[in-house]
Amino acid sequence: MVFAVLFLALLTIALSAYFLPKNGPSGRNIQEGTDVQVLDTKEGKGGEDTKTKIPVSVNYHLTRQCNYSCGFCFHTAKTSHVEPLDNAKRAMLLLKEAGMRKVNFAGGEPFMNAKFLGQLARYCKSTLQLESVSIVTNGSKVTAAWLAEYCQYIDIMAVSCDSFDEATNVKIGRGTGKHLQKFRHLAQLCDEYGVMFKVNTVVNRYNWQEDMNDAIRAIGPKRWKCFQVLIIDEENGGDETLRDARDFQISDEEFRFFCDRHAHNACFVPEGNGVMKSSYLLLDEYLCFLNKGVKGKTKSILEIGVKEALKDVYWDESGFVERGGEYDWTKPATGGFGQGKNPELEF
Ligand code: SF4
Repeated sequence: MVFAVLFLALLTIALSAYFLPKNGPSGRNIQEGTDVQVLDTKEGKGGEDTKTKIPVSVNYHLTRQCNYSCGFCFHTAKTSHVEPLDNAKRAMLLLKEAGMRKVNFAGGEPFMNAKFLGQLARYCKSTLQLESVSIVTNGSKVTAAWLAEYCQYIDIMAVSCDSFDEATNVKIGRGTGKHLQKFRHLAQLCDEYGVMFKVNTVVNRYNWQEDMNDAIRAIGPKRWKCFQVLIIDEENGGDETLRDARDFQISDEEFRFFCDRHAHNACFVPEGNGVMKSSYLLLDEYLCFLNKGVKGKTKSILEIGVKEALKDVYWDESGFVERGGEYDWTKPATGGFGQGKNPELEF
């Protein structure tokens, strides 16, 4: 009897997650951010943790391999592993069943495995019907042919660009001199193929004083995320790691200087180190959740399931609330963002 009541209570909570407003009824505290929704059921006796985590948005780093060599990279090529497509699909299905609404494919460079990426995106959008499928890429390997085949399954393409001075990109390791040409071409292609275009910039020692206002205005991305370069001990923290990002580091004041200069752009979204470290839900190439810089990773979600794995994920509630940004992440049904099909879209 007790179990039946408990089961019904949990079922109600899970179903209600989709229908209740953010500030739920008294006695139930719902905290909603981009990556994990935390339901505090307040039913535990004796102080045990009663929180149920729902993986609303997941970043799947499907490969660590990359054709660029950015000096500050914090997801380095420590392995060359990529899961078989069927495993990756099964993981996406489990996550969807656990409440995932958005998936973001990242790397390394996800286009190192372009066919795998396209097929997985199609599965997520078409079969699982996720609200949003996005990709973070350095842009160098995206082709018009790939977009022609898969654009209908992609809501957002986030392309990295750290400088509008090619010499600075080269100094950083972002390509060998043709990054800006490729980046601008990709912005046009995304417009043509109706994929929302986003820019990611890592603010670091070499670009924190750069004025990017004119260039960003000319590109007109829907969202421009600016990250403060981040040190993760086991990835880019020192002599033992594949990258040493210490020379790229900037102070909080220098990051603030960059932000103050660009904050008036409507698309501008800053992310300092404090927010970045633990407010993303990261799935690695083995389908394990990462606890970057905090503790070891979980077991594979194919092995222990999503719910069990999430119990072991460090989650900074203040971080995800601060980051905010459960923005409108589904592209308009037809046409690109530049075509004014959905003026209300706040990406
Ligand atoms: S493009 Fe991204 S994954 Fe590749 S080296 Fe640069 S930061 Fe790392």
